[in-house]
Amino acid sequence: MSYEFMAGLDFAQELDRLDELHDIRDYFYHNEGEIYMDGNSLGLSSKDAEAALLDAFKVWKREAIKIWGTENGRYFNYSKSIAEKLAPLIKADANEVIVMGSITTNIHQAIATFYSPTDTMYKIIVDELNFPTDIYAIKSIIELKGYKVDDVLVTIKSRDGRTISEEDVISEMREDVALILLPSVLYRSSQLLDMERLTKEAHNRGIIIGWDLAHSIGAVPHDFKKIDPDFAVWCSYKYLNAGPGATAGMYINRKYFGKSAGLKGWFGNKDESQFAMSHEFDQDRDANGWLLGTHNILAMAPLDGALNIFNEVGMKSVRNKSLHITAYLMYLVDSKLSKYGFTIGNPREDHRRGGHVCLEHDEAYRISIALRDNNVIPDYREPNVIRLAPVALYVSYEDVYSVVEILEKIVKNKEYEKYSLNRVTVL
Ligand SMILES: *Cc1c(COP(=O)(O)O)cnc(C)c1O
Repeated sequence: MSYEFMAGLDFAQELDRLDELHDIRDYFYHNEGEIYMDGNSLGLSSKDAEAALLDAFKVWKREAIKIWGTENGRYFNYSKSIAEKLAPLIKADANEVIVMGSITTNIHQAIATFYSPTDTMYKIIVDELNFPTDIYAIKSIIELKGYKVDDVLVTIKSRDGRTISEEDVISEMREDVALILLPSVLYRSSQLLDMERLTKEAHNRGIIIGWDLAHSIGAVPHDFKKIDPDFAVWCSYKYLNAGPGATAGMYINRKYFGKSAGLKGWFGNKDESQFAMSHEFDQDRDANGWLLGTHNILAMAPLDGALNIFNEVGMKSVRNKSLHITAYLMYLVDSKLSKYGFTIGNPREDHRRGGHVCLEHDEAYRISIALRDNNVIPDYREPNVIRLAPVALYVSYEDVYSVVEILEKIVKNKEYEKYSLNRVTVL
């Protein structure tokens, strides 16, 4: 889609007046005078998340052990009730969704479940641009199964260092491939892969395929009824705004209900037999059979609250604004910053990009430090990327306008030169 934008602060303010999500920003806590562009790493806290957390604490304080039985077992069944709110974000059935662990543990669970190598079908496809933990998890399972990583792992190379070509993935889907794990949106370049096409191609060849939605859930709506992947994992602290280390999530396609979970734990037991304390695992009939230990209530409650906002506004309006405001950011970068050595590293087409803009510059590191000193919170990724996420729920068009003005000031006056080139850990 092509968008019509104009330069100038007036225009940004006009876009804010027209923005139907503009007032949602008041649901979130902002630091006075600071512009937060790092919601793709850690989303902002909200009043809803806070209220749900305080509420859970209050129930614990009041009820102690009885917390598990209060409100009809709401907290005992917390994964199920949160799944009701999560499922619409990916158009899955609620009983295909569970809330547990982290992306890393959930990849372990998924691969332990779905990787059943045979003599002729044992390879796993990943891509060279994926986030390291996904690859560590896969490598460790390969070793646990007694294979050598080099014999099993097929790593799709990027042609341009930024993106992964769907064609390249498909041409590696050979007869010996058992499983594929890919990110929906690449964490550096914001490329959104064609999930439906890749899933279909994998299934045509009998290959299991799963998706890591870390950078898409809460930013890009997914239709899992259409895509029909085998499994998916995601975290809750990025676009879902559930807080640092909030409990992650997992999707198990209903066609696997009844399949034995790779990793087993007592919360995966059927409710009716969980407290029989038998040493025979009696797996729940739906995705809940993949749960492991006791729900971490205090890390789930903020997610419960934060999801109210998504359920109120719907993913369609989130995506519409996200596409529009990222396009506006790209327009400003093109018109004001390209002469200072900035380039845009993400795909331009709406159907090929996620919720952040990937800004490349040779001095990206020092510019990102200068941005912080100018009250803009960006995110830096080696070797030359500033990620800017104008999150639909709480970033305004005027914020985006100001960020580009500040970037222009930093590079025009070479403000970044006063900072050391020595990297300090920036998260
Ligand atoms: C953020 C992110 C992770 C983080 O994993 P955790 O287990 O939640 O710490 C993993 N994979 C991808 C692709 C990510 O973007």
